[in-house]
Amino acid sequence: MTLAGHYWVTIERDRCRSWQQPWKCGACIDTCEQGVFARDEMGRVYVANEIACVGCKICMEQGCPNSCIYIRPATPESFSRGIWTTQTIEEIHRKAQTGEYEIRGYGTMGNIPHFDGLVVVPSQLASRPPKDKYREKFRMEVTIGEGKCANPIRLNYPFVFAAMSYGAISREGKMALAVAAAKLGILANTGEGGMFPGEATLAHGYENEESRRKGVKKWSPGGYLAVQYSTGRWGVSVDYLQAGDAIEIKIGQGAKPGMGGHLLGKKVTEDIAMIRGLPPGTDALSPCRHYDISDQKDLKKKVEILRDLTNYEKPIMIKMGPSLPYEDTYIAAEAGVDAISIDGMVGGTGASPEVVTQNAGIPTIACIRQASKALKDMGLKGKVKLIALGGIRDGADAFKAIALGADAVGFGAAAEIALGCRGCMSCHRGACHYGLATQEARFRACIDVETASQRLVNFVHACAEELKILAMLSGHDRLDTISADDLRAIDLNTAAMTGIKLAGLEKVFPQSWEGFDD
Ligand code: SF4
Ligand code: SF4
Repeated sequence: MTLAGHYWVTIERDRCRSWQQPWKCGACIDTCEQGVFARDEMGRVYVANEIACVGCKICMEQGCPNSCIYIRPATPESFSRGIWTTQTIEEIHRKAQTGEYEIRGYGTMGNIPHFDGLVVVPSQLASRPPKDKYREKFRMEVTIGEGKCANPIRLNYPFVFAAMSYGAISREGKMALAVAAAKLGILANTGEGGMFPGEATLAHGYENEESRRKGVKKWSPGGYLAVQYSTGRWGVSVDYLQAGDAIEIKIGQGAKPGMGGHLLGKKVTEDIAMIRGLPPGTDALSPCRHYDISDQKDLKKKVEILRDLTNYEKPIMIKMGPSLPYEDTYIAAEAGVDAISIDGMVGGTGASPEVVTQNAGIPTIACIRQASKALKDMGLKGKVKLIALGGIRDGADAFKAIALGADAVGFGAAAEIALGCRGCMSCHRGACHYGLATQEARFRACIDVETASQRLVNFVHACAEELKILAMLSGHDRLDTISADDLRAIDLNTAAMTGIKLAGLEKVFPQSWEGFDD
């Protein structure tokens, strides 16, 4: 395919030397091998053959001394230049200069199949009648650990906040997450960086230790805090493990499955270093696996040890990246956990090699149904809770994840955005201008914990209403009756990945999904 005709070429005449002094300059004419530029009869340079431009931009970089040439794609570069987009060429130049791979924050970019390929089937005559959102009740509480531990977690909504460590996130950002969990009655998570003093107190709804002693909650109904037990063991001690309302064993995460956490030294301040137990300014690179968990037996033993440590009072959870969701879920459930979080491919992070975030993992929508099937095959559906993470943006994604088989969903990037994040993908640099992915005092100062937590509460309330609308218009008054039959796929990829019937065809595609009910 020729590249001709795909670019707009402009000369800014006010600054072009040949338009101020005719017959001068003309460097672009000499530089351009395609003959795009020429002189008119007055000696001024003009774009004589725009259709010949191939978008190499050499005239911009090496020709024009005044930087007054602009080359813009007239069609998306992915079409006009195929795989050799300007971004690809720049990235190759960057690697050639530095010899380094790219590290960045945030999640997978590009066209990864996601919940947008699914639509909700509304109730009409042939289906169960719809429920009236304005007049009837909808139940959306979820309990984790019922019958397995003395103090199960009772979520007011089928939502949790995904793990984000103190270190990756500022103390103010973490405080806002904990306070929002308290206001909503849901679960926050320490992430793998240990617990800062007072984090559990805030999540429970108390302003400080004194108000806890007096039993006076500032934020009701009060929420929960899961303490993460990760490969790095940062800040892990018996006191830490006993201070949470649940323990989450971290095996992996969506943005970098098969790799450990990565906190660059510039974010390891004295405070964070003290909590994590490492020298300030040192990169905190977590191991890629638990060295004492190499098979199913080890995992089972670990769950038993942690149950024992919590005196059988608290749920034990596990978080995994997207790999072999059926088999991984089977092994985790057999080890005796109370909840399994699967973090799909578009899950976010504070820092990860881009080659991993963009290329390793399985899309979130392809994980949930397989994981749910494993629990069903084991007779544990509904008893061991399945939490879907990885790119949950709103109540529609939550509904679709629940219809695919999840019991609850986790907000990670969306929670950060609700707190003020603008998605600049620079979390790893430590200079977040919105005070979240930073430890610098000047940036942290822009977060007011009460205001930020209220933004997050508003966001979750809105998502809960969206979930309720979709559930009730499809005939449900509780979460656990929502099923895969409430969805249709609108493209072949989504149908094939999820086993959801293709809209219009009313059949699963391919047939190997037949009989795969949940
Ligand atoms: S190189 Fe730049 S300044 Fe020189 S003639 Fe071309 S557009 Fe004008
Ligand atoms: S605004 Fe802050 S938290 Fe959001 S992507 Fe940028 S650096 Fe990360």
